[in-house]
Amino acid sequence: MRFAGVKTGHKARSFMFIRSLYEGLLQLVYPLLCEACQRPLLGQEKVLCLECNLLLPQTHYHHIAENATAQKLAGRIHFDHATSFAYFTKDGLLQHLLHRMKYDFRKEIGNYLGTQFAVALKQTAWIGDITALVPVPLHQRKQRLRGGNQSLWIAEGMSSVLQLPVLPHTLRRIKHTKSQTKMLSREQRLENIKDAFAVPEPAMLEGQHILLVDDVLTTGATLEACALTLEKAGGIRISIATIGLAGS
Ligand SMILES: [Zn+2]
Repeated sequence: MRFAGVKTGHKARSFMFIRSLYEGLLQLVYPLLCEACQRPLLGQEKVLCLECNLLLPQTHYHHIAENATAQKLAGRIHFDHATSFAYFTKDGLLQHLLHRMKYDFRKEIGNYLGTQFAVALKQTAWIGDITALVPVPLHQRKQRLRGGNQSLWIAEGMSSVLQLPVLPHTLRRIKHTKSQTKMLSREQRLENIKDAFAVPEPAMLEGQHILLVDDVLTTGATLEACALTLEKAGGIRISIATIGLAGS
């Protein structure tokens, strides 16, 4: 058995070597390009080159309790902390990245943004109190159309840095809703999305402090409906993290 183990280890090392060689050659022939400036990525760079990474308009809200994300949700739901990673502006870098992720099914962009966000969040003391990450779910039909759930991709990236479990099935989207158009008032938006979510096994959440993860905070109606559903499960605390914060 010991011999077999050594043999397997050798095979695994050979495989890793061949794979990294293959990836290196692939990068020479078809270099991965920076999503912003289109220059070939170097070494450990992912999605954005180092220079473009520095251009992400980070909010640094995680250091400020009374930030614009928290203010947007205050009085609507109960939460401990609420923060967004970067400003989402029309034709801005973050909008470009989130569009690529959503419409080209680029999971690695979600993972990348999640890891970047988590590295920033690690600077705070409060993140140590979080016990699990809960991505905002999509209805199954929409998830099929989108090739996956983008909030889950973000949460998975965060999880790799924060070493926290992701609970993708804790909160379920049970109702397919029309898109949250700006034509609707706040009450109409909430009415549109009310009862869209459910927590099938509330006991699983008992005593947890969950971080609810979404891509962009626009009107906040989706997060509001999610948090209200989670609150009903009882015995939990909620904090909120979105990658982008839109102006309106
Ligand atoms: Zn670049």
